[in-house]
Amino acid sequence: MGDFQSTDKLARRGLLFILSSPSGAGKTTLSQMLLKADEEIKLSVSATTRPPRPGEQDGVHYHFVSDAQFDRMVEEDDFYEWAHVFNHRYGTPKGAIREALKDGQDFLFDIDWQGTQQLKQKDDQDVVTVFVLPPSLDELRRRLESRAQDSSDVIDDRMERARAEISHWAEYDYVVVNDSVDECFDRVREVLDAERMKRTRQTGLIPFVRELMG
Ligand code: 5GP
Repeated sequence: MGDFQSTDKLARRGLLFILSSPSGAGKTTLSQMLLKADEEIKLSVSATTRPPRPGEQDGVHYHFVSDAQFDRMVEEDDFYEWAHVFNHRYGTPKGAIREALKDGQDFLFDIDWQGTQQLKQKDDQDVVTVFVLPPSLDELRRRLESRAQDSSDVIDDRMERARAEISHWAEYDYVVVNDSVDECFDRVREVLDAERMKRTRQTGLIPFVRELMG
């Protein structure tokens, strides 16, 4: 089993697996489930200027940086993409991603539609995009309210942003509705599994196929 996995991993380039959704649609839960269940995908840890929420760790959930540090990273061209979201800035550091992709490492991105567009423009071949929709806007509001993390003004803002985010759903390769988190998770995994098997991603040929091709 171990051997099979490493051979399979070497046989293809890694992919950039993007999960986007309005906040409250369950994307963070789905991301965590995926990272736990699948050893071959790593989270791309973004940099952000927003302050940490309770329980968030620097370097694990985000790299929490000051405005000046973010400015410097932009100037030094350290980002694959970056965007303003909710009055703060968020960006995907290039870091080791490019090299690791060549070795077959997959990366999970929890980024918004703006970052998705930018990544697609830079690297359409390796990018797979999945949009997670809530079952309805009423249900989304209920979920945001039940988190009790935010004031009602913030919830109104998030609902407004959710409408804007959802208006970009047609730019994604796949759409899944998060009615039940387990079922939604299964669908997300099916997408990832199928994308890994795409013939066009098999840049290193399987040995007997290589022999057959001469
Ligand atoms: P939160 O502050 O709730 O963690 O994230 C707010 C929004 O920022 C989410 O929609 C999340 O997907 C998005 N986001 C997080 N990191 C990045 C990033 O590196 N780039 C972009 N474009 N969006 C991001």
